Amino acid sequence: MALRLDGKALAKELEQRLAQQVRKGCAQAGRPPGLAVLRVGDDPASAVYVANKEKACARVGVESFGAHLPASSQPETLLKAIRELNADERVDGILLQLPLPEGLDETPLLAAIDPDKDADGLHTLNLGRLLKGEPGPRSCTPAGVMAMLRSQDIDPSGKRAVVVGRSILVGQPMALMLQAANATVTVAHSRTRDLPALTRQADILVVAAGRPEMIGAEHVAPGAVVVDVGIHRRPEGGLCGDVIAAELEPLVAALSPVPGGVGPMTVTMLLVNTVLAWSRRHQLDHDLDDLVP
Ligand code: NAP
Repeated sequence: MALRLDGKALAKELEQRLAQQVRKGCAQAGRPPGLAVLRVGDDPASAVYVANKEKACARVGVESFGAHLPASSQPETLLKAIRELNADERVDGILLQLPLPEGLDETPLLAAIDPDKDADGLHTLNLGRLLKGEPGPRSCTPAGVMAMLRSQDIDPSGKRAVVVGRSILVGQPMALMLQAANATVTVAHSRTRDLPALTRQADILVVAAGRPEMIGAEHVAPGAVVVDVGIHRRPEGGLCGDVIAAELEPLVAALSPVPGGVGPMTVTMLLVNTVLAWSRRHQLDHDLDDLVP
């Protein structure tokens, strides 16, 4: 049976490291780290995600500065809220919860976030920093995947990696991180021909296509490491990912479960970005560099 890439357990372990860093640094910094989550409108899924992030903050000692604005907010109001958080000395990380209500364009709002407070690592400058291998906040989901691989001593160096999906949120930064770790990377997308032939060549396969259970036994080579980023609610209840776990488990060397795989790590990496920003700002020593791909 495949090794289970247990993101939930790893997230718990990393939270303890973060909590220790916060305890250690608070006296020198004179304050705890702060994360501001900006929520606009009343999307019920977003409300759950934001509540989870606030709970995770509380567990590691990060102060939450949540702001909830109505769906009818004008872009200027949101820009003003972001600028205030940029200037707020208590805030080290800012997150704009997506998706925004219809009619609001996220692009200028994300661009207005101070790049050094960009908890999501999705600011254009930070994607550029990743491309150039410069330090900076990293996109949370792919950074979480890299931490999961490292925790099991799965070294991408020299391996063939295939990433299914090319979004700015997951696929593109994932490919850059694997390449930075010396994998030979191919990115597949909806126009890729003969996907199974391509994915069967992968030593490491990361699937972020947003298509429920699209990857089956015919897509993988025996012994591959497979990370399933997808998350979907089944009509009959329960969750599934982009891969058919039951088909892959007997074949592959390692597989991340859904739920309990990449999801919890995404939240943890948000905290990593915030605690690192706080540590940098107050020139605190830390031992979190292994979490920055
Ligand atoms: P997205 O923006 O919809 O991008 C999906 C990508 O997959 C696109 O590049 C698309 O290709 C490609 N794709 C779609 N169908 C395909 C097919 N049949 N064959 C090959 N490639 C295909 O999605 P995303 O934001 O990257 O998210 C992907 C999944 O991860 C979603 O299920 C999302 O819910 C999940 N997610 C989970 C977490 C977590 O924390 N667990 C975090 C973020 C996202 P084109 O570019 O050609 O359209």
